[in-house]
Amino acid sequence: MSTTDPSPAALSVWIALESPTNHAPGVNGMMDLVANEVAGLPIAVERIPGRDGLGDALILRAGLDNGEKAVALMSHLDTVHPVGTSAKDLPVRIDGDRLYGPGVYDMKGGAWLALQAFKDVAKAGSAKRPLTFLFTPDEEIGSPTTRSVIEDIGRQSRAVLVTEPAREGGKIVTARKGVGRFEVKIEGRPSHSGSRHADGRSAIREAAHQILAVEGMTDYSRGITTSVALVGGGTAANVIPQHAWFSVDLRVTSLADGVAMENLILGLKPRDPDVKVTVSGGMNRPPYEKSADVASLFEMARGIAAGIGFELQDCPMTGGGSDGNFTAALGVPTLDGLGIDGDGAHTLGEYALISSITPRRALIKGLLETI
Ligand SMILES: [Zn+2]
Repeated sequence: MSTTDPSPAALSVWIALESPTNHAPGVNGMMDLVANEVAGLPIAVERIPGRDGLGDALILRAGLDNGEKAVALMSHLDTVHPVGTSAKDLPVRIDGDRLYGPGVYDMKGGAWLALQAFKDVAKAGSAKRPLTFLFTPDEEIGSPTTRSVIEDIGRQSRAVLVTEPAREGGKIVTARKGVGRFEVKIEGRPSHSGSRHADGRSAIREAAHQILAVEGMTDYSRGITTSVALVGGGTAANVIPQHAWFSVDLRVTSLADGVAMENLILGLKPRDPDVKVTVSGGMNRPPYEKSADVASLFEMARGIAAGIGFELQDCPMTGGGSDGNFTAALGVPTLDGLGIDGDGAHTLGEYALISSITPRRALIKGLLETI
């Protein structure tokens, strides 16, 4: 792609508008950019006000109103990067084929190129069924305010296309592990660590046992992982701690494993009978398994990509969850990872490959016209 191609410049405007999930004005600014971009086109815009301090969601509708189920695109416009990242650590800049900036790869680049494809098809009137495009404000924190919208649109759709970043070499995603999140709170009995040591029941000592038990549930052969990555407790170096807590991140490959692991973790029992262990949480995103319907949708995408001139591959089940987990778990054929190619998601080295815009925009256009 030549440097005179307008795409990187137009996309740079999206990247420069910082939109971390907890910064509703930034996220709403992104929704404004989308709404402004489709003004005057045969595309209907519905805006859903944000809740719980988070930004709005936006639904675009186009295509044929023929009573058929829709093809739905889904993109999130929030990022993990705090406001100020582009001014300091990750300026928006082009270096060769790389466009750097906060959220360019995860996933503003994918959202942007998919919107161009959506506009192409809406303008050409070349869809065979209704088209829906959902932009969400809160994927990076597990979509707490938009899950029901995602699932409603999923149920009304023949297929769902998610524009999360492509994997190495442009691979798309056809399966994702399910994700669970738990919070474990431990209450012991405080005492003076010098004069009354035997009277105390250390919440941290109990937490140590529980953490080893939870980490020990990891079973790579079944694709099950448990991670304790946040932990806290205690008040002072000379007090037997009354309180401790830790979080658990769980990944599973099947619904059955999700249920079994949820029961195990919610059922943690204290080793010391004088200590109380309370567990909350559960499965947040169900697993997205490569069903026969997903496989045939992938074959369709492969055929379209071959016509454009590139070989499309999918990658083995990935550990990261996305909104695709929600729709796939409803049995709606879902393709994910259709977004921009690049690397460095959630890091200060995040970039997208400018050369991946044109073929992937064409792939999404082809899917919108073919499904
Ligand atoms: Zn993402």
